[in-house]
Amino acid sequence: MENKLTDCDHRHNPKLKGLRMTRQRCAVYQVLMAHRDHPTAGEVYDRAKHSMPTISLATVYNCLEALVQHGAVRQVNFERESSRYCPNLTEHGHFHDEKSGTIIDVPLKKGIHLSDLLELPAGAQIDNLEITLRGKIIHQPSLTTHP
Ligand SMILES: [Zn+2]
Repeated sequence: MENKLTDCDHRHNPKLKGLRMTRQRCAVYQVLMAHRDHPTAGEVYDRAKHSMPTISLATVYNCLEALVQHGAVRQVNFERESSRYCPNLTEHGHFHDEKSGTIIDVPLKKGIHLSDLLELPAGAQIDNLEITLRGKIIHQPSLTTHP
């Protein structure tokens, strides 16, 4: 069986170091990097088909799993929804806009860590911390439109 490696655009990406980048994994990673909108596996599959019509949903799942296992991509779960995938490895929160259904990354302010906001039990070591905010983006009235 021939598992040909591609000239993957990401082969010099330090996040992917040590992971065998097959053409499929490369295509899946490319999809995640193209639009940082936290797609589900099904959405990744729909997008990956454009560049690789022969890819299957099962392969997409396998690729996502490999990328998550390697720590190159984060799997995020929002309640009662399919898992979504995020290639942003910096500490960040997620804002779920319930009006449009979009999920955007919310960076932390400089010098702040999520764990700074919590009174942790002594000696606790955090392996995984997620913050999800739900709400709406309300149109901000412009200050200059008042007569
Ligand atoms: Zn994210």
